[in-house]
Amino acid sequence: MKRRSFIKNSSFASLALTTTPISIFQHNLDYTIEELMGKADIELFGEDINLKEEAYDAFLNMRDVALDSGIDIKIVSSYRSFERQAQIFERKYLSYTEESNMIPLDAIDKIVEYSTIPGTSRHHWGTDMDIIDGTVEPQGDVLVTEKFEGKGPYSPLKEWMDKNSESFGFYLVYTDDPKRRGFKYEPWHYSYAPLSKPMLTAFRSKNIMKQLEKEEFIGSDQFTSGFLKSYIEDNVLDINPYLL
Ligand SMILES: [Zn+2]
Repeated sequence: MKRRSFIKNSSFASLALTTTPISIFQHNLDYTIEELMGKADIELFGEDINLKEEAYDAFLNMRDVALDSGIDIKIVSSYRSFERQAQIFERKYLSYTEESNMIPLDAIDKIVEYSTIPGTSRHHWGTDMDIIDGTVEPQGDVLVTEKFEGKGPYSPLKEWMDKNSESFGFYLVYTDDPKRRGFKYEPWHYSYAPLSKPMLTAFRSKNIMKQLEKEEFIGSDQFTSGFLKSYIEDNVLDINPYLL
């Protein structure tokens, strides 16, 4: 097992100096806002896995059992820091507004079909992951809904997960419920519920809206209170109800 450290920029570094080490909080569920927003130096386990310890152990168990059915559950994305998410957001924002000439609010609506506003990604928590089947040679973009359905290459993986993942604690977050708002259907994104449920509860208790209004990155000056309110209701909270 390997401990990973993440480089913090100077403003986060000064915050970190005054923050009590995260490890003592992990079992009493008192998560800090820095940890919930991807700004803390958290302990992650497994090369190319990068999950919190309990989620990592559960993942290894699940992967072993799936291997017996010829499925190699492979993580393509798990932990992501605030800074990494901000880079993704800013790159898309600049591409949509400058190259595609979209107006800022349309660009933001387009970004939040699949990508989060930095600070609100479940990938900040070390509990969530995007997966594919490692037995299939990847071709082009892998996180594409059609590839997880019908005759798609990841259809057997999705079927196996539908039957088995919940018994290991992993739940689909962005389901195909037609009444669900927010992020589109993501058949590849799973969350380790025993940790992520209390983390979401903690996040909701911290006044997410107030935290987001303080953030500064390219495009954040376009956020109105109305936009942030509906973003939190739809994209952060309109998920698989089991995870609430
Ligand atoms: Zn994801």
